[in-house]
Amino acid sequence: MAKRTRRAQQADHLYRGSIDAPGTYHSTEEYKRPAAEQVYHNTDQCPEGREILPEHRAPGPGGYRLCDVCRDMAVGGSTAP
Ligand SMILES: [Zn+2]
Repeated sequence: MAKRTRRAQQADHLYRGSIDAPGTYHSTEEYKRPAAEQVYHNTDQCPEGREILPEHRAPGPGGYRLCDVCRDMAVGGSTAP
């Protein structure tokens, strides 16, 4: 069990090196969806983001556009571009 935790931390560390938008995440399965539906999320409150399985969840935008739900949630906040 300890080995598994260490491996997860190493993977997390590798990902951190490419994060340019803290708090964002996407699914590693996202590329299988139609291009118009490929998105990333920036809030854990997003119902679509919550459907991403833990093993498919990766940090960062992944080169996708921001999810509509997440964008709507950001309205009124200070993070929207
Ligand atoms: Zn979202």
